[in-house]
This record gives sequence, structure tokens and C-alpha cells, in this order.
Amino acid sequence: MNAYQLVCTILNEVKIPIPEIGDVILKGKWRNSPATVTGYKNDSNHQPQVRTNKGVYSLYKFRLQKLMPKSKINTDVKESVEVTPLLKRFKISKREIEVCPHCFQEIGEKEVYVDSKNYMYHRPCINRGPIKKIEPISKKEIQSLLGWNH
Ligand SMILES: [Zn+2]
Repeated sequence: MNAYQLVCTILNEVKIPIPEIGDVILKGKWRNSPATVTGYKNDSNHQPQVRTNKGVYSLYKFRLQKLMPKSKINTDVKESVEVTPLLKRFKISKREIEVCPHCFQEIGEKEVYVDSKNYMYHRPCINRGPIKKIEPISKKEIQSLLGWNH
């Protein structure tokens, strides 16, 4: 006899008792206070409840799916795809920035001014003098930057 057959045998032998009107039930988790059954009703999931003189109690601790309205049964089958959780770690990057020697602020891309004599200025500090002399790039340097090494 397998487990399923055993359960079937037990269920056939055990009659599930139903509280009848006038029966006393002991309710509450700790106190077991008595209440008298006065009738029955169903909850919004069509599950049986017992009415008593002290309130309404569910007959079962679970929901019997075959009693439930079809609209409330979740038919979504969960995906069986196993998702490997994403890993996260910090990446600290460093970059060199140019700082103005006058105001000690980072020089933004659009804050540079170069005059006709190739002197570079920090625009907000233009009246305090140039901060760099840009040397013209020779033909050789251009060639090496472009990878034309001959
Ligand atoms: Zn400056």
C-alpha cells in the first residue's frame, strides 16, 4: 500500500464531523471560550463558516479550492526559469583634472580661452593672467599622433 492509498483508506474510515446548530464550540487560541452554533454562512471565497452567538468562525483553517469562485483562483503557473541574481560591486575611477591656479576651481571644458598669441586663460579669471602657453604642434607631432611614423 502506497501513501496515497493509505490516505484514501483513512479518509474513508474517518467521518468529518460538522458542527450542528446548538453545538458548543470552544473558540479562541488560548482561552477556549465557549460559543453556541446558531447557523452557517459562506465567506467571500465561498468557504464555510459557522455562525455562533459570539461571532462567525471559519470551519477550515485552509481554503478548499473546489469551493472557490473561478475568478479568485490564481491560475498563473510560476515560471520555472532560474534567475541567477545580479552581482554588484563598486568601481572607483580616477581622472586627472585641471585646476586654475588663481581660483583653485576645476577648469570646465567651456571655461578655457586662448588668445591670438596662444596664451590660455581661465575665463572667470581672465583678468588675472594666463595659466598656460600653448605651444604650436609640429608636423612631426601631428604625424606621430595620427600613427604615421615615417
Ligand atoms: Zn580661475
